[in-house]
Amino acid sequence: MRTIIHADLDAFYASVEVLDDPSLRGRPVIVGGGANERGVVMAASYEAREYGVQSAMPLRTAGRRCPHGVFLPGRPDRYRELSQQVMAVFASYTPLVEPISLDEAFLDVTASEAALGDGPTIGRSIKERVLDEVGLVVSVGVATNKLCAKVASDLRKPDALVVVPPGGEAAFLAPLPIRRLWGVGPQAQKALGDYGVATIGQLAALEPSTLQRRFGKHGADLASRARGADSSRVEAFHAPKSVGHEHTFHTDVVDPRKLEATLLDLADSVAGRLRHHDQAAGAVQLKLRYEGFETLTRQAPLPHQTRETDPIYQAGLGLLRRTLVAGRAVRLVGLTAISLSDAQQLTLFGAPERSDRLTRSIDAVRDRFGDRAIMRARLLTERPHRRFDFGERPAVLPTDDE
Ligand SMILES: [Mg+2]
Repeated sequence: MRTIIHADLDAFYASVEVLDDPSLRGRPVIVGGGANERGVVMAASYEAREYGVQSAMPLRTAGRRCPHGVFLPGRPDRYRELSQQVMAVFASYTPLVEPISLDEAFLDVTASEAALGDGPTIGRSIKERVLDEVGLVVSVGVATNKLCAKVASDLRKPDALVVVPPGGEAAFLAPLPIRRLWGVGPQAQKALGDYGVATIGQLAALEPSTLQRRFGKHGADLASRARGADSSRVEAFHAPKSVGHEHTFHTDVVDPRKLEATLLDLADSVAGRLRHHDQAAGAVQLKLRYEGFETLTRQAPLPHQTRETDPIYQAGLGLLRRTLVAGRAVRLVGLTAISLSDAQQLTLFGAPERSDRLTRSIDAVRDRFGDRAIMRARLLTERPHRRFDFGERPAVLPTDDE
């Protein structure tokens, strides 16, 4: 039997703004930009939510709904700083901390209970210490698995401590609407509605064969989640020092265009991984292995800390063109982002807005459908056969900033 905690700061970005400027307390605070700007709401205080303002809503909509709201651009560096302080508090309870985003994490405290008390005791202690030491309010769910802990922390925000007793998982979930369950999006909700299913309990009571017919292999998962079962582990995450991909060709390559296309694919993968890790690179390293296994590595700085494909590709391309000896056959090409930082110099909220928003949309599609769901046109014709992925990739779970 495990004891899992999900801890999630309440309206994080907005709460940080209030913490740093107490005159904002009690007012509708909306982080993301001006009321007339393009872009979306990154966070809204609970006061703003009373006007129907929500995360991910266009700022202009928020401006209409809450014209007297305090609209702020957001300060990513400050959020990261406080996030690190909060994560440090979490880490004092267990080494098994899995951050999901800046403001939420899973903790496996099973082995800590003998020394620190049971799950609810640890949950209360976490809430007190985050408030005392950082000044922020965190909602906490305690359960025997991640699924129930996450649903629990979310259930009575803000300032919640919700405990799901061992053995009570199915009963806890049963009365809740099915949208609370991981993996049940609007389409699945509609499909389940056709069977008269509105609550998780009704879902759990459906014949497994019915679910399997309608949802294929996901049907069985859905049924077991509806009963509150989830065996996934809390995976402690350590930020990588570098992020790299390399590709070995089936047959050695002389054509520079093919090498460049491969490099573009590698740059795309590297940039995607940087974004997953919420890191940015200050330099790249190119690795070239010629036939006969002679291997060269060359490094070049990037013009600025970045996690976008194009500057990473351009830097790699410059290295390739300077390094490659014409006519020599290449067996392997690799590209690694180095000099990683915590994406500190990046604006999460502003320029380069278009590129960043497009990239985020691409990431969202890839998270759902896989890396190959969206590819650059050039890679469709000249695409490498095989790719090696080194370094770990953090789990991606649906998050909402609440
Ligand atoms: Mg949150």
